Amino acid sequence: RGLLSGKVAVVTGAASGIGAAVVDRFLAEGARVIAVDLAGQGADRPGVLAITGDVADARTWRRIADTARSEFGRLDVLHGNASVVTRAPAHELAEADWDRQIAVNLTAAYLAVHACVGLLRETRGTIVLSSSVHALAGLPAHPAYAAAKGGLVSLGRQLAVEYGPEVRVNTVLPGPILTPAWDGIGEEDRRRSAAGTAAARFGRPEEVAAAVTFLACEESSYVTGACLVVDGGWSAV
Ligand code: NAD
Repeated sequence: RGLLSGKVAVVTGAASGIGAAVVDRFLAEGARVIAVDLAGQGADRPGVLAITGDVADARTWRRIADTARSEFGRLDVLHGNASVVTRAPAHELAEADWDRQIAVNLTAAYLAVHACVGLLRETRGTIVLSSSVHALAGLPAHPAYAAAKGGLVSLGRQLAVEYGPEVRVNTVLPGPILTPAWDGIGEEDRRRSAAGTAAARFGRPEEVAAAVTFLACEESSYVTGACLVVDGGWSAV
């Protein structure tokens, strides 16, 4: 029996990087997974029910909740992981890019809860939000991203208080994890990021998936409103 045996989980941003690793791990732990990503991102894979949609659109969340109810009759785990980044300092960042990053990285969590908390209450379910160590420490050229990730930390705590004791809500804060999100970033910046951790290397998506799985399952039954930093000691250095 796996840690998520019999559970139904939604994972957003499921086609790439950490989200794909979480889907793999949830499946290995016995969950059935509703995998959400944008059109053309190919979240479809064996054992997974894929939904194509934008997490910043309330209609996507209504479809997700309807699918969980009609296909599985339940929802146990919600992992909000999808994210978008536009790199520019605040004085150069277009307002539309600010709005989009806040919508995808922060407002999506509100939309998720709005649509799905009823289902999660029925199963005494769990929510795991993906923030970032850049909720805690500044990162040049990421004003909206950092603001949204900081907002998720506060929102996670607020939701834990609001929906406890029925629903546990926790936030994971990854450090540098080697995923396609790093594709456009130069060798020197990558080297510096990896060297800036106590572990002296990038993290792997599976290492974040392990933390997400812990927060999603009963092993963390007395953990709620918490932030779990998974950064190889980046924020400790
Ligand atoms: P990634 O870029 O590899 O994957 C993100 C996925 O989200 C993509 O498949 C993309 O299509 C999807 N997505 C983007 N916008 C969407 C939308 N509006 N609706 C639905 N899907 C959408 O990212 P990753 O590196 O695996 O990061 C996953 C999470 O971890 C993100 O929340 C990210 O901010 C966080 N994080 C990552 C790192 C890192 O170093 N990789 C560090 C800190 C935090």
